[in-house]
Amino acid sequence: MLAAKRVLPAGRYLTRALSTRASGILSSVGISTSDEIYGVYDGQWKGSGEIITSTCPTTGEVLARVKTASPKELEEAVGKTREAYKVFRNTPAPLRGEILRQIREALADKRDALGALVSLEMGKIRTEGVGEVQEFVDICDYAVGLSRMMNGRVIASERPGHSILEVPNPLGVVAVLSAFNFPVAVYGWNLALSLAAGNATIWKPSPTTPLCSIAVTTIVSRVLEANGVPGAVASLITGGKETGEAIVASPDVELVSFTGSEHVGRIVGKAVQSRFGKSILELGGNNASIVMPDADLSLAVPAVFFGAVGTAGQRCTSTRRLYLHRNIATEFLERLQKLYGAVTPADPLADNTLLGPLHTRAACDTYEQAVQHLKSIDAEILTGGNRYTQPPLDVGNFVQPTIAIPKSVNPNDHIWKTETFAPILNAAIFDDFEQAIEWNNAVPQGLSSSLWTRDLRNLGTWIGPSGSDTGIVNVNVGTSGAEIGAAFGGNKSTGWGRESGGDAWKQYVRWSACTINFSDAAPLAQGVNFPAYDVE
Ligand code: NAD
Repeated sequence: MLAAKRVLPAGRYLTRALSTRASGILSSVGISTSDEIYGVYDGQWKGSGEIITSTCPTTGEVLARVKTASPKELEEAVGKTREAYKVFRNTPAPLRGEILRQIREALADKRDALGALVSLEMGKIRTEGVGEVQEFVDICDYAVGLSRMMNGRVIASERPGHSILEVPNPLGVVAVLSAFNFPVAVYGWNLALSLAAGNATIWKPSPTTPLCSIAVTTIVSRVLEANGVPGAVASLITGGKETGEAIVASPDVELVSFTGSEHVGRIVGKAVQSRFGKSILELGGNNASIVMPDADLSLAVPAVFFGAVGTAGQRCTSTRRLYLHRNIATEFLERLQKLYGAVTPADPLADNTLLGPLHTRAACDTYEQAVQHLKSIDAEILTGGNRYTQPPLDVGNFVQPTIAIPKSVNPNDHIWKTETFAPILNAAIFDDFEQAIEWNNAVPQGLSSSLWTRDLRNLGTWIGPSGSDTGIVNVNVGTSGAEIGAAFGGNKSTGWGRESGGDAWKQYVRWSACTINFSDAAPLAQGVNFPAYDVE
């Protein structure tokens, strides 16, 4: 049952009349249900700046008021993180791995409670919330192994008695600026690799999911402190745009790992570049599934359903474009609509819920505007198109998953080239595979794509030079829901960033190319002759 909406007078201090639904979850992750909460950690918990509120997207209930950093506290936290880095960089990598192993254990112990907190605060359904914490656990496992495998190289020198080494050294301070929709996992991907590499991190989470970041930082900091490591190795600074801007501008931050919209990513990327810092940009996606006439529809239909409706369409990898071969289009859409018809929106914490709310009221407005736009261009709305306004859903941000068939198939039209962060799936019909690949590649974004086929020739084309240009190129697997093993990220306006597995760790180190001379001569490279005569 959803709790009833409680209206608090603006600015009034929240003395707890929290629902048992919320207070049970907050207590289980050690978050106070009776006070304003500190939102800054740099070895100590603090916060005397602006107050932000965490609001439950399902019930509208104010979950907590969080005290963010004042400008002075922000500066201090960055300074302390830098000091912590100077200590931590000298800790041998396998010992850093042992600390990560302990963080992994501590997270796994709280997996279900943290997963429920993600559902409560972000709004995704419980199984996805728990899955997100599992992803953090998985990347810790990966990073424990990595801590003994971050190998450099020995390179043959052209000069006698010389050797060249490529040495991965710790990089410095890594700022992690994260989006609302993965309030735990994205930080996990960055923290695990960054710690293994010997860096200190500053986390600036989304201002609408501060509680997830506080709960995670509480767990991580306890492990650090128990190992005699300065807590500021994993600092937390909650806040909004200005806080993000200050961190991005700081010369004390070597690497900014930013996850968020293309709009903000463009600003952040330029700001970091202007001071010659490093950045990893993980930005918006606009992902397509292509279904060939030979596809197994019993696999493809549920996968598109999950890709488009899962997380209420709020994954960077959500399926937003559906390209159907003419021969199977009618059957596919009929089967997909049946699944849509059976979806019942409900509390994401309740068992069996498949559709939770959008994260904010503003997201509902964006959804409604997108539907209006579809109608204005005479798109056929096959299903959905409205908000849920009946109690108890009216107090939350619930919208109907929508399938539309725009008249235009021109990928340069607004409807095809823009990421709308809501459960809206636009479909089009194609006759040639080449046409579908062209549509897939014609948008600015390049995150994820998925081909449904049983034909090896299609597969070969799809993953090769003339195939999909996205970072994630799947076959008989939906666009959404990646594992941690491969490097995750997208091309073009998705930012070209790579995180998590693969070679992503190589971005979190400072590479030193070291030429060592162990001979009695000092020849120059390329045989350059530059005699030095003794001068009287
Ligand atoms: P957003 O861009 O609004 O915010 C992201 C972060 O940037 C937040 O922490 C925010 O406070 C901060 N921020 C805002 N303005 C800033 C500024 N001027 N300088 C520095 N920081 C600033 O994104 P959102 O709405 O939270 O998240 C949704 C977006 O994130 C979608 O576009 C989604 O596709 C994208 N996303 C991408 C990936 C990926 O891996 N590619 C993963 C998750 C989400």
